[in-house]
Amino acid sequence: MDGTNGLKETTRVPTPAASNKPESNTPESTNTLSVNVFTAPGKAMVGERPKPFGEALAFDPITSTLIFGDYDAVLVDTMGTVSEAEALAAWVALHNRNLETIYITHAHFDHFYGLSILLDRFPGARAIATPEAVNAMQMSFTPVVERLARRMFPGQVATKLIPPQPYANDTFTLEGYELRIIKQGRTDSPDSTSLYVPSIGLIVAGDVVYNQCRIYVGDTTPESRKNWIADLDRLAALNPTMVIAGHKKPGAPDSPSTIQETKRYLQDFDRLQKTAKSEQELFDQMTELYPHWVANQSWLMFGFPGA
Ligand SMILES: [Zn+2]
Repeated sequence: MDGTNGLKETTRVPTPAASNKPESNTPESTNTLSVNVFTAPGKAMVGERPKPFGEALAFDPITSTLIFGDYDAVLVDTMGTVSEAEALAAWVALHNRNLETIYITHAHFDHFYGLSILLDRFPGARAIATPEAVNAMQMSFTPVVERLARRMFPGQVATKLIPPQPYANDTFTLEGYELRIIKQGRTDSPDSTSLYVPSIGLIVAGDVVYNQCRIYVGDTTPESRKNWIADLDRLAALNPTMVIAGHKKPGAPDSPSTIQETKRYLQDFDRLQKTAKSEQELFDQMTELYPHWVANQSWLMFGFPGA
């Protein structure tokens, strides 16, 4: 690095507070990376609740995250419906950065069915996910799952559904800063990941962390929840300053405490599942323990309707 850069005339200053900064990768920017979170609200779904309790059938609020430097940006996850993806694309454009990379954290369609809309708007961007996640996504392109999504969100699923490209490396960069893919195994979905940005202590957790939003335990087992909890411990050990959950109560702060809160919810569910006398009792006990968490949906606890 010779200290010059054709794009800039300013003098470089050291990046502040970069205690975790990778030594091998000197950033070219004078500034640290920034981050902004887009939260789509919860939305109605057409269909029957899988169990006759909890709120009327709806989908939980969901996030996408933009990480950006002076010129370039990385978007994490692309929402599920057309209107969400269009709003997200307009919001990304407001940042006036070159969208270089779209990273998809895991294989659930609520996080990537909007991808074609983002790529139409930002044709220069590459869309990537781990090879394992891309493989797991194939299920969402089968007629059965696509039909299910179109039935539950009528007129709201993009006509063109495309997967990201498999990306085999563990890291990529944004303006010279490292972004690290953390493979998490099975959490609320198989082969999920989080994205870690050491230079700013940021974890974009995907669905490994939930933030004041009821957790999709409907597709877990005691064994998979153990894996999930170990993942959370690994994230906590990174000592992050900011943690962005895949699903959150709109307006909730992106606090690192969400790691422990997610762990506690999983442990409470584990414990109560063994003692509750009925599904209704289990549901009611979890509702009482987390009265202010959003998306009190029976499908989050007992499985996706029609799946
Ligand atoms: Zn999700």
